[in-house]
Amino acid sequence: MSLRYQTDLFQRLHRHLDSVPIIDCHEHLPRESSIQAPGDVHIGRLFTHYASCDLISAGMPAEDLDRLRDGCNDLTPRERWMLLAPWYAYAWNTAYCESVRIAIQDLYGVEDFTADTVELLTEKMQQAVQPGFTRHVFDLAHIDYAMNQPLLPDSSPVFNEDLDEHCFIADMVDEFTAFPLIKLSSASGKAISSLDDYLQVIDWFFDQYGHVAGAFKVPRAYDRTLYFADVPRAAIEGTFHRLLAFNDPPDRNALQPLEDYILHYLCRKCGEYGIRMKFHTGIQEGNGNMLHHSQAALLNNLFLKYPKTQFDIYHISYPYQDELTVLAKNFPNVTIDFAWMWVINPATGRRALSEMLDTVPANKIHGFGGDYLFVEGTYGHAAIARREIARVLCEKVEEGRFSEAYAAHVGEMLLRGNALDNFNLASRRETYIKMAAGHRKPAVLDEA
Ligand SMILES: [Zn+2]
Repeated sequence: MSLRYQTDLFQRLHRHLDSVPIIDCHEHLPRESSIQAPGDVHIGRLFTHYASCDLISAGMPAEDLDRLRDGCNDLTPRERWMLLAPWYAYAWNTAYCESVRIAIQDLYGVEDFTADTVELLTEKMQQAVQPGFTRHVFDLAHIDYAMNQPLLPDSSPVFNEDLDEHCFIADMVDEFTAFPLIKLSSASGKAISSLDDYLQVIDWFFDQYGHVAGAFKVPRAYDRTLYFADVPRAAIEGTFHRLLAFNDPPDRNALQPLEDYILHYLCRKCGEYGIRMKFHTGIQEGNGNMLHHSQAALLNNLFLKYPKTQFDIYHISYPYQDELTVLAKNFPNVTIDFAWMWVINPATGRRALSEMLDTVPANKIHGFGGDYLFVEGTYGHAAIARREIARVLCEKVEEGRFSEAYAAHVGEMLLRGNALDNFNLASRRETYIKMAAGHRKPAVLDEA
């Protein structure tokens, strides 16, 4: 059945978007060597996150979700389905669940996810999820590569060069404002016994990775406000010394100004190394958070104070996307990022992209970041993104604002060109590929 919006124009623009090799601006995918053993793969994998939050929100008991996802119990595929079924039926309408459904249909060839097909689906998943699966799915989704931030317990602090370079470029991640002193000291080989030592450790990480990483990600906003006050050093040095002492740890209220001070230092470092800062803003993953901590407008003072530092604002700051539109319109150093957005709320994503294309220069919008921990989700998300972006571009042509050729060009910018340009990815990726290959096989680096 062809849908009302699927006009000839839509089909042409959609086909064009299909032909663009996506630069995926944000993922949390594991490296191939961390992929589950085939026997541990089951449908719980598809509810690692996102859709699982909708199940909980619909009323699923947390213990049942744990049992659905647990790889160590010996539930049969059908028993797992029974745990899932009532809540999946309630949450079926959301884009989180649609993304999973698209992946099940396209990657596993299972048209309807039901009690009757769950055994077949489990079997197909066990056959497919093997080393090489990520690249295979990226090829099917026509994703060139992704900027990746793995969430693994064994991740290296700040930067992980041990990632499959044929799928990813790694981002640096802000661990500095969390002060894991022992971890950072051992990774850098530098003792930390003063604030100056700590700043030198930060300098060391930037020297190592500031020219290699895709971007510098700040994942705060889950546990504090995104307003980072401009605090003088004299106000926080004592707090830092308390971190080093063993018997007088600072509490949350005392730590916050110290975090602020370090974050401002990081803004200066990122400006110096030309590495764009990505901030998590807007909706937070999980089932209960302080939403107002995460407004992009709270970062306004940083945009003003550090004009040479580039900022990329994640998740379009949804539900504060209108504020972000104004910020991106005003500030040359602020870009908009649709990472995660097309599965959060495709209707708002469409409306927001349409308004942004009437307001903000087109080179300042990054159209896709899967933001998944399992690659099937990335596949489903990319399909939804291409469909929704095509619908918005169609609307611009139908309104007479864009020619069809210009709409096609904007589609390329959103899915690929803007990420390459704004993150300076061509040269960073070249350096990253050499470093990642060298990390796996030191002999190769010696020959070069
Ligand atoms: Zn993320």
